[in-house]
Amino acid sequence: MIKFLDLQKINQQYANELKQIAADVIDSGWYLLGNRVQSFETELAQYIGAKHAVACANGLDALRLIFKAYIELGIMNEGDEIIVPANTYIASILAISDNRLTPVFVEPDFSNFNLDINIIEAAITPKTKAILVVHLYGQICWSEQLETLAKKYNLKIVEDNAQAIGAVFKNEKAGNLGDAAGFSFYPGKNLGSLGDSGAVTTNDGNLAKTIRALANYGSTQKYVNEYQGLNSRMDEIQAAFLSVKLKYLDSENTIRRQIASYYSSNIKNIKITLPKIAARNDETHVWHLFVIRCKERDNLQKYLTENGVQTLIHYPIPPHKQNAYRNYNNLSFPLTEQIHSEVLSLPISPVMAQEEIKKVVEIINKYE
Ligand SMILES: *Cc1c(COP(=O)(O)O)cnc(C)c1O
Repeated sequence: MIKFLDLQKINQQYANELKQIAADVIDSGWYLLGNRVQSFETELAQYIGAKHAVACANGLDALRLIFKAYIELGIMNEGDEIIVPANTYIASILAISDNRLTPVFVEPDFSNFNLDINIIEAAITPKTKAILVVHLYGQICWSEQLETLAKKYNLKIVEDNAQAIGAVFKNEKAGNLGDAAGFSFYPGKNLGSLGDSGAVTTNDGNLAKTIRALANYGSTQKYVNEYQGLNSRMDEIQAAFLSVKLKYLDSENTIRRQIASYYSSNIKNIKITLPKIAARNDETHVWHLFVIRCKERDNLQKYLTENGVQTLIHYPIPPHKQNAYRNYNNLSFPLTEQIHSEVLSLPISPVMAQEEIKKVVEIINKYE
């Protein structure tokens, strides 16, 4: 079986370093709010090019904390509207609704799955406070038009950068394009810890300070609480693992690009639509996922499973059709719904063997 993602193999590459650093953390006796987290924050900020990085417990919390901080700072209020792509992972929506803000769904661009920037303006109302762009599947969602819109209507741009760490748009990294960005280091992400963890990057010192407090019980000083915060801290051991793995991120992303390029040039099947890169520059994509479309998706997936290729669907049900959001079930987003019924993610990871990549192509090309 060609695995969709072989996490065991991914971490095995760095097993010696990871085991050594885990032993160091165990022996140190210090497990939270210590030097490891501080170092990783510095390294992440440097890597992204942002002034501040604040570590937290997971990617959902990173996004929740950004909106919560904007509310504490009086920049957003309960009931304000946040524009968000309709076809994103549900975490993007949860971060908005958890703060009693209102998600306003906008359809994606059918060719690249990212928010269709051309139709955002029609969704803006006097209550709109921000656009949550999602760099879906690893591809940056950005344009000058987006920046112009945000300026014109005085909107914050928040990036959901759970999937695109390392991607670059005109010399600027994903996570340093908008006002603040949320990262996930869920094990399966391009930079994965060995458990849950996340972070926020921003150039806004006041926002960073507020988020740091909110993630630690709303406290700026032990037993002094400024806000009604959360407990959303990153473990020292996860920070230590991430410092090891961050060093290899760029080379892993390069391998992902090579596989994507091989798939794109060699998969030839009239029943299959390959993913398009919006920009010419291939730096804008880090291929967290390689997502194809097929009208007979379920049949294709069954065929691939039978032939030893594991695939996944990102995602089978759009957020507005989930039971969790019954209040939005009556909304209609035809492109989003079509995407959810046609997409299929092929195996892509830095540890795939050359023969496996070739075999995936051969099997797909034989599908009738
Ligand atoms: C993974 C992911 C998240 C949430 O990250 P967790 O660390 O799992 O909480 C948010 N948004 C997107 C687009 C994701 O892919």
